[in-house]
Amino acid sequence: MHVELLYHTPDPERAIATAARLCYAPVGASELMETMPEERVKSVLSTIMGSGHFSTLEHASYTFAIEGVSRALTHQLVRHRIASFNQQSQRYVKFKNGLEVVTPPSIAENDETHVVFDEAIKACLEAYDALLNAGIPAEDARYLLPNASETKIVVTMNVRELLHFFNLRCCNRAQWEIREMAHKMLELARPTAPYVFADAGAPCVSGVCPEGKMTCGNPYPRVTRD
Ligand SMILES: Cc1cc2nc3c(=O)[nH]c(=O)nc-3n(C[C@H](O)[C@H](O)[C@H](O)COP(=O)(O)OP(=O)(O)OC[C@H]3O[C@@H](n4cnc5c(N)ncnc54)[C@H](O)[C@@H]3O)c2cc1C
Repeated sequence: MHVELLYHTPDPERAIATAARLCYAPVGASELMETMPEERVKSVLSTIMGSGHFSTLEHASYTFAIEGVSRALTHQLVRHRIASFNQQSQRYVKFKNGLEVVTPPSIAENDETHVVFDEAIKACLEAYDALLNAGIPAEDARYLLPNASETKIVVTMNVRELLHFFNLRCCNRAQWEIREMAHKMLELARPTAPYVFADAGAPCVSGVCPEGKMTCGNPYPRVTRD
């Protein structure tokens, strides 16, 4: 799995604080962006994160390039409706020279299950090739491609959505592959806006686990903003 932060709003914390301050300031956003002292940026952010004035978080956004993940992962990822996506197409890209797949560790760690998995994938790909060679369009032949197929996707989320995404997908209840990806995204985003992302992650990082009987019972260490 390869996760890269392609780009993000410059100075995201200042951009968010500017949007918040504009509501109460006699001057414009441009002047606030340039002149607000660093301590003021931090105190405004503290108010936002404490008060839930989260529309201000929508003014900073992040774009990630994600590769080497399965279609099983991206099917879950694209359920996040506030995010924007573009994904490598199985209609326009023909996997004539084979297709990389993601093998779940639970399968890979056992020789017998690994063989079962590899043989099933091989059979799918042979049938896919045979359909392409018979002139079937890729958009139809792809019906045979497995959930394990590797894919590439670009995703953009604003900070409000990103925090929500981390809340759901960094949690131990989330499926292992999307959880691994969410943690990589958080590792990349955190240094760019350390205050905003300080307690990002599963709900137990900043509060109480909401999972009830479904809890993993293994909370992450608690983090609080200074
Ligand atoms: C552990 C786990 C298990 C899951 N299991 C399943 C499963 O078995 N089956 C399944 O189908 N899905 C499952 N999901 C997916 C889940 O139901 C959500 O579709 C997915 O997590 C996206 O969450 P969301 O809708 O909050 O996020 P987003 O789509 O990113 O939306 C963000 C927020 O915007 C608001 N919002 C967005 N759209 C609307 C709208 N139309 N109306 C009102 N408010 C809106 C909501 O407040 C929402 O929380 C699972 C998710 C997790 C994390």
